[in-house]
Amino acid sequence: MAAVSAAREILRRLHEVMAAKSGAEAKLNQVVQIVAQQLTSEVASIYLLRDGMLELYATKGLAQEAVHVTRLSMGQGLVGTIAATREVLNLAEAKAHPDFAHRPETGEDDYHSFAGVPIVRREMAIGVLGVQHREPRDYDDVEIEALQTVAMVLSELIHGAGLVDDAQVAQARAASSGPLRLAGMKLVDGLGRGTAVFHQPRVIIEHTVADDTEVERQRVYSAFAKMREQIDSMMGQAEFSAGGDHHEVLDTYKMFAYDEGWSRRINEAIDTGLTAEAAIERVQARTRARMRSIDDPYLRERLTDLDDLSNRLLRIVSGQLGSAAKSGLRGDTILIARNLGPAELLEYDKRFLRGVVLEEGSLTAHVIIVARAMGVPVLGRVAELFAQVSDGDELIVDAANGALLVRPAAGMIASYETMRVLKARQAEKYAEVKDLPAISRDGRRVTVMMNAGLADDAQAVDMTGADGIGLFRTEFQFLVSATLPRRERQQALYRTVLEAAGSRPVVFRTVDIGGDKAVPYLQGDGEAEENPAMGWRALRLALGRPGLMKVQARALLEGAAGRTLNVMFPMVSEPWEFSEAKALVESQRVLLARQGHALPEVVRYGAMIEVPAIIETLDTLLPMTDFVSVGTNDLTQFLFAADRANPRLADRYDWLSPAILRALRRIVRAAAAANVPATICGEMGGRPLEALALLALGVETLSITPAGVGPIKAMVRSADLGALSEQMAVWLDTPGLTVRPALLAAATAQGVDLG
Ligand code: PEP
Ligand code: MG
Repeated sequence: MAAVSAAREILRRLHEVMAAKSGAEAKLNQVVQIVAQQLTSEVASIYLLRDGMLELYATKGLAQEAVHVTRLSMGQGLVGTIAATREVLNLAEAKAHPDFAHRPETGEDDYHSFAGVPIVRREMAIGVLGVQHREPRDYDDVEIEALQTVAMVLSELIHGAGLVDDAQVAQARAASSGPLRLAGMKLVDGLGRGTAVFHQPRVIIEHTVADDTEVERQRVYSAFAKMREQIDSMMGQAEFSAGGDHHEVLDTYKMFAYDEGWSRRINEAIDTGLTAEAAIERVQARTRARMRSIDDPYLRERLTDLDDLSNRLLRIVSGQLGSAAKSGLRGDTILIARNLGPAELLEYDKRFLRGVVLEEGSLTAHVIIVARAMGVPVLGRVAELFAQVSDGDELIVDAANGALLVRPAAGMIASYETMRVLKARQAEKYAEVKDLPAISRDGRRVTVMMNAGLADDAQAVDMTGADGIGLFRTEFQFLVSATLPRRERQQALYRTVLEAAGSRPVVFRTVDIGGDKAVPYLQGDGEAEENPAMGWRALRLALGRPGLMKVQARALLEGAAGRTLNVMFPMVSEPWEFSEAKALVESQRVLLARQGHALPEVVRYGAMIEVPAIIETLDTLLPMTDFVSVGTNDLTQFLFAADRANPRLADRYDWLSPAILRALRRIVRAAAAANVPATICGEMGGRPLEALALLALGVETLSITPAGVGPIKAMVRSADLGALSEQMAVWLDTPGLTVRPALLAAATAQGVDLG
C-alpha cells in the first residue's frame, strides 16, 4: 500500500503541473524535480527526440549547461539503447554496461547507478526518463513502475505541448528500427507498397491522469462487464462453435476476462490516480515485458491472447471502436490483420488498398477470393507480424516471393521500383494478347472467361479481354450489405453486369451463403454449426428458404429481360436438388410471364460440380442441365477432406495430384459424352501450370480471376495442347504422386509461357 500511496502522490503532483499555465519547458523542469524528490534520487533527467536525436531537455542534478547540448542518437549510450529497444534499464553500475557512453559535459562522473524508462507514443520512443544515484544500487520494482507511470504522463504532456509531433515519430521509427524481411505465403500474387494500417487500430491514450478516481473505476468496471458479455456471445456464435481453433482462443479469452488478478491490477493502477485507459495500458506493458522474457511458446501464445484482450478492453473503455475501414483509408495502405472475413475486407476502399498481410490466411478462403477480385495482393501466414510491424511503418508486399519488407532501405525500394516496372512491362505484353483469341499452337480454341462478384468487376471484362463472365458470385452483394439486399437492388446489379458484358455471356451463380461467407442477417437460421463448410450453405440454405431464392430468381429473370440468362446452382449434391432449384426459377418465370413482365429470351440452367457425391450421379444430373461448371476450390477441399480455410492445410495437397486430375477427367469425359459443356471456375484455372493440366485433360473453357486472363491467354498461345494431352493420359494411368514435375518439364521443353 505504501507503493500505491507513493505513486498516488507523484500523480497528484503531476496533475497540478499539467493543469498549471506554465510553458512546456517549465513543466518538464518541474517534473524532474518531482521525480528526484519522490524517488530520493540525486539526478532525474528527461531526454526528448529532436531531429532524430535524443536531446537532454530537463535535468535535476546534471550540469544545466548540458541541457540542449548533450545529444545521443538512437541506440547510442544507455539513453539511446532504452529508446531503441523501448526497454527499461536498471543498473547498479552504469559504466559497466557495454553501451555506456561518457558525456563529460553533464558532470555525471560521480554517479554509479542508473535506471531509465522509455517515453512512448504510438509504440515509438519519443524520449527517455532516467534517474541516477551516487551509491551503486538496484532499483526495486515499485521505483521502476513509478518511473513508467511518470513516463506515460510525460508522453501526454510532450505531445500536448507539441514538443514532438507524430511526423517526427514516424521518421524516427523508420530511422531506428531498421529494415526487416518477413517470410509469408503468397495468397494473392502481386506487388504493393504502402503504409501499415492495422485492421484493429491501437488505441491512442490522450489522458493519463484522472480527475476523479471513482469515475475511472466505474468506467473500467462497465468495460469489463461489456467485454465479458461480448466474449460470452461470441462463444455462442456458429463460426466459433466448440472444437475449432477459434474456440480454444475464446476459452483463453474467457479465462482472462474473468480473471480476478488482472482486474485487480488494473484497479490498483487506477488507485494511483491513472485514468482507466492509462491503467489498462500500464498493466498491459507489464504483460508485454513478461512476454519478451518467456521462451515457452505456449505461454507466450497465452500472453499474446491477454495482450489482444487488453486491446479490446481499451477499445471499449475509450469508445475507439470499429475497424480501420470505419475511419477510412487516406493514402496507399497495406492492411495488417490476424485474419479477415470477406465482408470485412469489402468494407475497405480499394482505391487505397495496395496489399493485405495476414498472420493466418489460406489460399482458397473466400476472403482471398474477394481480395483477388479486388486486385489486391495478399501475403498470409506471416509469423511475428504483430511483434515486428508497427502502425505507420512503410511496407512492401512482394507476394510472388513470399516476402514482406518492413521499413525497406533505399536499395530495397529501388529494386521494388524495378520489379514494378518489369511487371508493368509484362502487363503490356499481356495487353497485346488480351484481344487475341486463346488459340493454342496446334489450333485449339480455348475460352477464357473471368470470375466476378462486384459491380466494378464487370467493367473489367473489356479491360482484361475475357470471353465473358463464367462465374458471377451473386453473394458478394449480400456480404457487403447490412441487411438482405432488396429485389430492385439485386436486379439493378445483374442488369449492370449484363450491360457491361455486352454480347459476351455471363453466368450468374445463385447465392452461396454460409460456410465462411456468413451474413449476420441470415443467421439464426439454424443452430451453431461445427462444420459450416459442410453445413447449411449454398443451395441447401436457398432451398430451405424458398422465399429468398424466389426473390433472387425474379431479380435475375427481370435483370436479363431480352437476353440469355445463365443461372447456375452451387453445391449441388444430389440431382433432385438441381431439379428442385430449376423448378423454383421456372415457377417465377411463369409467374412473371403471367404478370406481363419482359423475360429473358433463353434461360439456361447449370450445376456446379463441387461435392464429390455428384460425380457418382453425373449420369442422372447431366441430362437435366444445359451446362456444368467445376468449382475446384470446394471440390478439392471435399475430395481431400481438407478445410480450404485452414492455414495449416494450405499447401498440403497438390492440385496436380492424380486424385484431383483423375476426378476432373471423369467429369470432363462424362460431360463430353452427354454433350454438356463443362467449365472450370475454381482458382486452379487461374494458375498457368494448373490451367495447362486442365486443358490437357480436355477442358475447353476456364473461368478465372481477372488478373489471370492475360497470362493464361499467353500460356495457351504458346502451348501445343495435343502433345500434352497425350502425355497427360500416360501420366494419369501410371502410378505416381503428382504430375507437377513431369508437366513442368514438358511445358518447359515446349517453351510454354508460364508467366
Ligand atoms: C469453388 O468452390 O471452386 C467456387 C468457384 O466457388 P466458391 O469459391 O465461391 O466457393
Ligand atoms: Mg464453391
